[in-house]
Amino acid sequence: MKQIYYEKCAFCESELKNDFGEIEHYRPKNRSETEAKNCDKRNSYYWLAFSWDNLLPACKRCNGKKSNCFDIEGEYKEYQGENLENLHLVTQEYNEVEKPKLLHPEYDRFENHIVFNLKDEMSSDNERVNYTIQVCDLNRENLVDSREKIVTDFISQLQRHLLSFDKVFNGDNLQECLEYFKVTIEDFYAKSGVESQYSLIRKYIKNNLIEFLESVEIGYEDKEFAITIIASAFNEFCLEDN
Ligand SMILES: [Zn+2]
Repeated sequence: MKQIYYEKCAFCESELKNDFGEIEHYRPKNRSETEAKNCDKRNSYYWLAFSWDNLLPACKRCNGKKSNCFDIEGEYKEYQGENLENLHLVTQEYNEVEKPKLLHPEYDRFENHIVFNLKDEMSSDNERVNYTIQVCDLNRENLVDSREKIVTDFISQLQRHLLSFDKVFNGDNLQECLEYFKVTIEDFYAKSGVESQYSLIRKYIKNNLIEFLESVEIGYEDKEFAITIIASAFNEFCLEDN
């Protein structure tokens, strides 16, 4: 199962290689009797404790935060006496009836609903995405710090390439000068794929490049020109959308 998620936590995308992580039950196997502040913890699905598609690899922090939270907008699906061996692929069927607020990373496409602000915090215009962000605490400090590092490293590499570009560009050799950006952009592009840790922020930047560049300090006098150059380099070295 860890392979499907590329050894990453299904919720926060942190690598699980050195942290064996935990197995998270999408639908909780136990209920919490105490009233929870931010989510509903009253439903239990003990019969899905070993159902394959109810299990997700998660880091300790996400697992701990999510705990037994499972809010639904539809109707609670009770155990109908099904044979336990036939309960391995029921998530989608259950979801249609229960309409859970928590995303199931394997079945729900949500990347295009995530935006990052200047503090590298994620949010969404989609209620289920926001519920998942809140319940798993996906804007906790260590995650925001990791995203910030990706962004600052990327900008400082671009700055360095712009300086090299400046020294050599004579108005006629654009193509040749864009080569300075090649390795950085190809690497950034490669890591925006699902197999990489924290791919979502890279994907977001890639898909909103101009807006992103306009919002950050690039450290180049003619910012408009710098943005044009970087965008040209992206067009040149980003092969296709992934
Ligand atoms: Zn996690």
